Amino acid sequence: KTTSIDEMLEEVADRFSFQLRQRHIHTVIDVQKGLDPVLIDRDKIDQVLDNLISNSIKYTGENGTIRLEAHKYDRDWIAVTVLDTGVGIPRKHISRIFDRFYRVDKARSRNVGGTGLGLSIAREIVKAHGGSISLESETNQGTKVTFTLPIHHKESEQA
Ligand code: ATP
Ligand code: MG
Repeated sequence: KTTSIDEMLEEVADRFSFQLRQRHIHTVIDVQKGLDPVLIDRDKIDQVLDNLISNSIKYTGENGTIRLEAHKYDRDWIAVTVLDTGVGIPRKHISRIFDRFYRVDKARSRNVGGTGLGLSIAREIVKAHGGSISLESETNQGTKVTFTLPIHHKESEQA
């Protein structure tokens, strides 16, 4: 069974709609038209998306924006992005951000919970799907996490 990226992103936003509304965070979903459905372990990719959006909610202030985007990347990949306008991550922490238990909260004013496992689990799940995950961030600007998922072309479409 394949998954429609569109529906998958709508459903993540729905799962967090209460928190998003409570914190007055604006959500934008932007999915390229005509994207191929993907063959994925939906529960696992939901776990990735839930962690990314919950991170964005934790570190984005009132009236911020979280964008969920997806577009085709090369011929064989779909890139899924979760982008926020939150506090960001200081540059020196970024290289370790996918390590197990790594958190940068000592440097934060807001005190929010977590174990520091979410991103390392996300990376394992994305890798198991053959994709990769990366994070870009700028202090006081926001954070952008992108992961890729392979498109499984039908036999007849293969060169
Ligand atoms: P868990 O996901 O296990 O509940 P966690 O959210 O602390 O705990 P990760 O999801 O692995 O762990 O994130 C690691 C750290 O990276 C976070 O503690 C936080 O300091 C930083 N971080 C992650 N996402 C963001 C974001 N969108 N904006 C700012 N900082 C972030
Ligand atoms: Mg997390």
